[in-house]
Amino acid sequence: MNVAANIVPDIVIDLQQVCTRFGTHEVHRNLNLQVRRGEVFAIIGGSGSGKSTLLREIILLHQPNSGRIKVLGVDLNGLSRAAALKLRLRWGVMFQKGGLFGSLTVLENIGLPLREHTKLGDREIDDIAAKKLAMTGLKPEVGAQYPAQLSGGMMKRAALARALALDPELLFLDEPTAGLDPQSAAGVDELVINLRDQFGLTIVMISHDLDLLWQVADRVAVLGEGTVQGVAAMVELAQLDNPSIRPFFEGARGRAAQAGVPPISLPKETSSKPK
Ligand code: ADP
Ligand code: MG
Repeated sequence: MNVAANIVPDIVIDLQQVCTRFGTHEVHRNLNLQVRRGEVFAIIGGSGSGKSTLLREIILLHQPNSGRIKVLGVDLNGLSRAAALKLRLRWGVMFQKGGLFGSLTVLENIGLPLREHTKLGDREIDDIAAKKLAMTGLKPEVGAQYPAQLSGGMMKRAALARALALDPELLFLDEPTAGLDPQSAAGVDELVINLRDQFGLTIVMISHDLDLLWQVADRVAVLGEGTVQGVAAMVELAQLDNPSIRPFFEGARGRAAQAGVPPISLPKETSSKPK
């Protein structure tokens, strides 16, 4: 973490009293949440607890019924189209289904946001795209391949490279390890930590992958009953006796994931660094 303990952290995402309803179905009730600059912030919660909706609200794809959301200091309420576009360029999103265009090569896919939003020439765009490809650990030759030729893990990396194309300050990941074999999933841990530590990105991810959460999350918010049940580091969450939180740490998978980390309480600043 790059936030010293005695400095007030810089809040880059701030949700105050957010309420969301679909018809009579209440998804968020007076929900409050703050994400600090430079952290890996995870959102967990049962299926249907409103995680994806929350992410969609933060990235301007859905408007809550009430409450206030600020991203990078900008109030999302009543933004002009121009201001919304400007803000959208400051974050990258990797959706659960990578969403690469099948008719474009990997390099062309990564370059797409640059083609749309900058005046850079083809050569510069290819150079930047190649750098992003390398940042996500893919070999240069993958750039010439088409999405259908990639494994699930490579596809996720390529989608991540595209999310990084415009040098975002914020990166949103929805289930970055879902559907990956254990080896590819383990690579995602390192990747996320590198992006935070080398490039200073703030990363918000939705995940129920306990291995990933233990390895990379600085803080974890647990969604349940329409609100945030708690925000804490995994070591702290694992010790809580809250009925909305407990289920995540129970069962064989939860125990196996916990067994993979030392049972001592590491200082927060180092607890999430790779071993
Ligand atoms: P999660 O990602 O935590 O599984 P979601 O945010 O996708 O949950 O959904 C939360 C609840 O809101 C679910 O009950 C879902 O059915 C409902 N919901 C989400 N989007 C819509 C929508 N566009 N219209 C109606 N209901 C929705
Ligand atoms: Mg979801």
